[in-house]
Amino acid sequence: MPMPVAHGLVGASLVAAVLPRAGREREWRRALLAGAALANAADLDFSLVFVFGSRGWHRGFTHSLVFALAVFVCLLLALGRRRARVAVGLGLAYASHALLDFATTRQGGGLELFWPFSFERFGLRWWGLSEIPSRLPPAEILNFLFLEFVLFAPPLLLLILLRRGVFRRPV
Ligand SMILES: [Zn+2]
Repeated sequence: MPMPVAHGLVGASLVAAVLPRAGREREWRRALLAGAALANAADLDFSLVFVFGSRGWHRGFTHSLVFALAVFVCLLLALGRRRARVAVGLGLAYASHALLDFATTRQGGGLELFWPFSFERFGLRWWGLSEIPSRLPPAEILNFLFLEFVLFAPPLLLLILLRRGVFRRPV
């Protein structure tokens, strides 16, 4: 169960991969931040855990592929056809949350990846990243956050440099 650092960096990377930097720099940066935020949005289901007092709400419908598709359709409707590429980037950022949780779950319950067709919980279960951070001392949580940064910041940095044309040869 990665923490917000990993999810945010992956979400921003997907937006950077999909969106060309043509256009205004400020809009591009805003899209990257929106991607980072949306990549963490599925964990807002923690609010349902607090409201209803059951951990069963976590990693439920907000972590399903169908829900990710619904989020993408909403983004597409909200942004319109002219900004469809932004909607694709942000939709991928949202979907990345479930896929990253799925890929990095070894212990505990998995995700309702195929909700509403199945309530079964899935996890790849071969590599755990930042699992059960709420039970860890703060120093270990910081270690996990640092590890997530080391793992997921380089692809984002590389994409930003590519989009800025740093590797382009002068003509
Ligand atoms: Zn999650």
